[in-house]
Amino acid sequence: MTSPAQKISVSAGNALIVVDVQNDFLPGGSLAVPDGDAVVPVLNRYLAEFSARELPVYATRDWHPANHCSFKARGGPWPPHCVAGTHGAQFAAGLKFPTGATVISKAEKPDKDAYSGFEGTDLDARLRARKVKRLFIGGLAADYCVLNTVRDALSLGHEVYLLTDAIRAVNINPDDGPKAEAEMQRLGAKPITLAALGT
Ligand SMILES: [Zn+2]
Repeated sequence: MTSPAQKISVSAGNALIVVDVQNDFLPGGSLAVPDGDAVVPVLNRYLAEFSARELPVYATRDWHPANHCSFKARGGPWPPHCVAGTHGAQFAAGLKFPTGATVISKAEKPDKDAYSGFEGTDLDARLRARKVKRLFIGGLAADYCVLNTVRDALSLGHEVYLLTDAIRAVNINPDDGPKAEAEMQRLGAKPITLAALGT
């Protein structure tokens, strides 16, 4: 017999982090995550919860130069994607960020990649300045940038809720997504869905 999922109320000290929900990672994009657009309406419901309570929202994005080291032309693993200023780098048009949302750009230099929203950014300093201790994290892709953002958040001492209904994986190997989810939970992330917020 399963007990009802524990309800969580978002409150002061909580923040929502939306990872890399950019056109190039959506169907039709240059590095499309299968079913990636499915996270948009779900994230909008989380965004509405945080927005209604005036809690901080952060949106990370890949913001690469055209000669970025992660691109195949330079020996990297990926096709060109999320080149700064292009349509592919823009956030999904359907995402409803509150006006005060903070954009965190990453991997902006040619010779360094960053899967984590904390890597080479001021995200952690911003969270600490706002006394944020509990993070709700969703977005794309579960097996790369979400995984690494969650890992860094936990190692920096944040409590992390993983929004399992608002992530999708690239799945280069078919079980990369489930493996990433298991790894995030092993590291201490707590899996939740919208139902946990009572929405
Ligand atoms: Zn990238």
